[in-house]
Amino acid sequence: MTTIEVVGVPVDTRHFIGGQRVESAETFTNTSPIDGTFLGEISRGGQVEVDRAVQAAREAFPAWAAKTPIERGEILHRIADFVEQRLEDLANIETMDNGGLLRSNLRGVMPRVAHNLRFFADYAIHDLDHPDFDTRGHTNHVSWDPSGVAALITPWNAPLMLATWKIAPALAAGDTVVLKPAEWTPLTASFFADLTVQAGLPAGVFNVVQGYGAEAGAALVAHPGLSRISFTGSVPTAKVIARSAADNLTPCSFELGGKSPCIVLHDADLELAASLAVEQYDNAGQVCLSGTRILVHEDIADAFAAAFRAKAATLKQGDPRDPESDIGPQVHQTHFDRIKGFVDRAAAEGADIVMGGEPNADLGGLYFRPTLVHQPSPGSEIVTQEVFGPVLTMQTFATDDELVSLANGTEFGLAAIVVSGDREHADKITKQLVAGTIWVNCFFVRDLRAPFGGSRKSGVGREGGTWSFDFYADVKNTVVAPTGWKE
Ligand code: NAD
Repeated sequence: MTTIEVVGVPVDTRHFIGGQRVESAETFTNTSPIDGTFLGEISRGGQVEVDRAVQAAREAFPAWAAKTPIERGEILHRIADFVEQRLEDLANIETMDNGGLLRSNLRGVMPRVAHNLRFFADYAIHDLDHPDFDTRGHTNHVSWDPSGVAALITPWNAPLMLATWKIAPALAAGDTVVLKPAEWTPLTASFFADLTVQAGLPAGVFNVVQGYGAEAGAALVAHPGLSRISFTGSVPTAKVIARSAADNLTPCSFELGGKSPCIVLHDADLELAASLAVEQYDNAGQVCLSGTRILVHEDIADAFAAAFRAKAATLKQGDPRDPESDIGPQVHQTHFDRIKGFVDRAAAEGADIVMGGEPNADLGGLYFRPTLVHQPSPGSEIVTQEVFGPVLTMQTFATDDELVSLANGTEFGLAAIVVSGDREHADKITKQLVAGTIWVNCFFVRDLRAPFGGSRKSGVGREGGTWSFDFYADVKNTVVAPTGWKE
């Protein structure tokens, strides 16, 4: 079978290489996390398919690189037009594949896919500019040149949104692309490939190889024909990729996990703090940026906990296609078991699980109840390791010094949320936090012009705005002397 029907929409299950559909003899099985429905058998790529895809991308590179940013931008905007035309189909397919809320996919995620494409297309045309500068009469001119073939490896928690966050700047920079989507959620990348054909993207400029990380992924990142590797995923996988990329000195951008603090200062608006904290259950907790460690001042801890639990009690867990649902299933049985393992071990160690802590027996399957662990023992895995599920911890602090030490006390540094009613106090705290992004009295306000990435083990490098082009392009400085001219 080369095509499956998902919510009545045909989705190709083969790779997309050099503008053609390519089938592998071997497949892997794709099921829906909503209820375990069998979705289809997907072509399972490895070295052979990766070699073909990188070759196709290398052949397509010179012509794509030779186009102007305006020409490339026109095609990216056309792809965005098709994304918008097929927005409902994309949202439905993504929900079936990864279990994310349909209403979020319709209102936020898929519009952001189109926005990724339009934003980076326009940025390359209008904003990618550095003023010339003078060195003793010599002119320095900075330019961003296409670099070659970018390998993009993406996770399952927001599959097409995170893929296009890389595809768009890579293509706008004049690179060609080989994408390896996550094996648990391959469908929207394949559907997207068809939209690139409709939009007139030349064959070989964008390629998709499906398969397991240890097979297709490993073959791709070890390939000597790449100019860049951009990876979003977990820290252990990034370490494997970094070792492999080292052989070819392929530059890597890593967007990795987090264990971010959600900080409630004693001067915070408690209602706002409780709302922001409950938002950390979004996408069933499968958000890298989630502030999963609630750190609350001891003087207001009881009042905050009451407000938090009152709000959390209103969350409705259920089928992600139901517009009333706030929390859907976890993405996969393996991931569900991992989350349950963290919570069970915390309980066995005597942690005080004041909310949830178990699968939702009414729904069965992969639905895990939103969970709150109160005052976990310092240094225990539930407060130091990324659970990546609907599991929050709550710890109290007495002084700012204690808070900063707790907040910065993991190996991660992706994000932080600070809730405070006092600007000076908030400012004093944010200056001391180690994090790529800090939100003060808000969460998830994202502007694609902003640098995005993690400190410490949460990442290497930054993407977004100029930072994306600094990575995907070869940044060049041309120094022109005032002398030696014949005119
Ligand atoms: P993962 O590391 O298991 O897999 C990510 C991707 O890497 C998948 O496509 C997988 O097939 C591939 N892969 C696995 N082994 C590989 C190998 N040896 N060589 C090449 N590729 C390989 O991560 P995941 O479980 O899919 O995603 C969850 C993780 O992603 C969490 O840690 C989360 O915090 C992180 N994440 C980070 C961001 C961010 O922007 N910082 C965003 C979303 C998710």
